Amino acid sequence: MEIIHSPQEMTAWANRTRAAGQRIALVPTMGAFHEVHLRLMRTAAGHADRVVVSLFVNPIQFGPQEDFDRYPRDLARDAALAANVKVDILFAPSPQQMYPQGSGTTTKVVVSGLTDTLCGRSRPGHFDGVTTVVAKLFNIVKPNLAIFGRKDFQQLAVIGKMVRDLNWDIEIVGHPIVREADGLAMSSRNAYLTDTERQSGLALSKGMQQARQRVRAGVTSAGQLIEETEKILLGHPGVAIDYVNIVHRLTLLDQTEINRDSVLLVAARVGTTRLIDNTVLFDEQ
Ligand code: AMP
Repeated sequence: MEIIHSPQEMTAWANRTRAAGQRIALVPTMGAFHEVHLRLMRTAAGHADRVVVSLFVNPIQFGPQEDFDRYPRDLARDAALAANVKVDILFAPSPQQMYPQGSGTTTKVVVSGLTDTLCGRSRPGHFDGVTTVVAKLFNIVKPNLAIFGRKDFQQLAVIGKMVRDLNWDIEIVGHPIVREADGLAMSSRNAYLTDTERQSGLALSKGMQQARQRVRAGVTSAGQLIEETEKILLGHPGVAIDYVNIVHRLTLLDQTEINRDSVLLVAARVGTTRLIDNTVLFDEQ
């Protein structure tokens, strides 16, 4: 595995690889690798000839009160982990290399329609930061496909719309949510949780599980399912709800009655850590 820091060198590699007729898969990450990142890398290897993993903690997707400064960074550890999987390139640019004129004045890619609800409401500007950096990564790495996790459901929807709206010839692959044995969705941010907070954090996956059971038992009212999910969350100490919504998986518009396109999404703060989770409400066929 080679580590590339310079965007220019990355693009030169991408041009050579494409000229040789090879397909490139990109796995965008912010580092602090855990089991999920390694799974995404293995999945990428199954879809393409060459795998590029980008590692960039993108300053413009963090709000002023968010955890940009304390986000875990350890390139040597991450490189050792990625080297054990079939990764060809670890692309790890610096903020200066990605935003040479400073990030404050950069041109932005803004997806309309899907970004002002759910996480976009409590994290203004977050998705503009995400789509801008992903657009830059697409242009630098020139992937044939890119893999994103379904844990960040809204992010996946927003990136899918960006690719369609801008006619990008890149396949977007969604990876199923990966959970700890007790149900907690894996996340780099779980490392911030104390033991007690981690127990409370289980409220999210318990809420998801219960909602699916209630749907199997015949409940179809979104309002009722939301209320029951909120009850579970608030039954756990230290959990502050950001939102609990049931939306259509493509439009992200609220639904009153659920159907096969319904997704339940939850965001909550446990202590100072913000956790998210989601589930489709009917079993996938
Ligand atoms: P991050 O480094 O946290 O930005 O995550 C890199 C990728 O992994 C993103 O596409 C995330 O959606 C995805 N991801 C993170 N946690 C999970 C999880 N528990 N299950 C599935 N995908 C995940």
